[in-house]
Amino acid sequence: MGSQWIFLGGEFVKKEDAVVSVFDHGFLYGDGVFEGIRVYSGNVFRLDAHLKRLFESAQSIMLKIPYTQEEMTQLIVDTIRKNELDSAYIRVVVSRGKGNLGLDPSSCPMPNVIIIAEQLALYPKEFYEQGIKIASVPSRRNRPDVLSPQVKSLNYLNNILVKLEANQAGVQEALMLNDQGYVTEGSADNIFIVKNGVIYTPPVYLGALEGITRNAIIDVARAKGYEVKESPFTRHDVYVADEVFLTGTAVEVIAVIAVDGREISGGKPGNVTNDLLEEFRKIVTTDGVACYPESASHAIV
Ligand code: PMP
Repeated sequence: MGSQWIFLGGEFVKKEDAVVSVFDHGFLYGDGVFEGIRVYSGNVFRLDAHLKRLFESAQSIMLKIPYTQEEMTQLIVDTIRKNELDSAYIRVVVSRGKGNLGLDPSSCPMPNVIIIAEQLALYPKEFYEQGIKIASVPSRRNRPDVLSPQVKSLNYLNNILVKLEANQAGVQEALMLNDQGYVTEGSADNIFIVKNGVIYTPPVYLGALEGITRNAIIDVARAKGYEVKESPFTRHDVYVADEVFLTGTAVEVIAVIAVDGREISGGKPGNVTNDLLEEFRKIVTTDGVACYPESASHAIV
């Protein structure tokens, strides 16, 4: 593969030339929104849902994306094709753009739209075979009435802090609680528990991002006949769950085998978790937008 091409400032530029101004308010203040999207065998998984979330995040912070959703779809597909990618991770960033040093966004006339398409760096197989350990951390999830977790903004300090706390605790991921002690999500993934055959995940109003993978897992689980409930639960419920797993664009579905030192499902991934990962992987190559529709068997690997 030749150069990596980044969509930036309305055109494709080489990776080495893809730089943004130090006066961009995305850099100065974390003022902007983003999406992480995945491409499976030329299929941009649930691209419509990702773009809906991007546009809603932008609407919430009064950021006008200078393209329509259809134009963004085309630009993302173009970026994947330009980089000749088949399975990829896509990062879409819309920042407030260049302004002066004051925080007032009115000094920024033009939002900056960036699309990066990269070869996918897969997590190691052992990750899925063995599961991961998580721990509840001191920092609480942003309250939805202060800075809504529904806004996938460039301000990820809340998540970065809990990730640091998870590192300090010597585990792979954090369990974030809200200010009332209810379980919300991980630093970059949603959480599910399984108890007596029923699957539970916290309602997003408690303080979780409405994950695209979360919703896909709810869909495949219900289609397979599982009962899925969006209802509040506490750390205790996690400790005594039959299975615990996390979902996200990057991790897909990953089993949790210990929470705050309590072993879960005998210290190995449970059957429901494995079943849902398998079902999820069945839909990822077809549910979305095809990048290479004209050639059913394109030869890019
Ligand atoms: N929660 C947070 C805070 C995240 O950053 C992510 C990753 N986007 C998720 C959950 C999972 O969302 P998705 O399935 O859309 O990747």
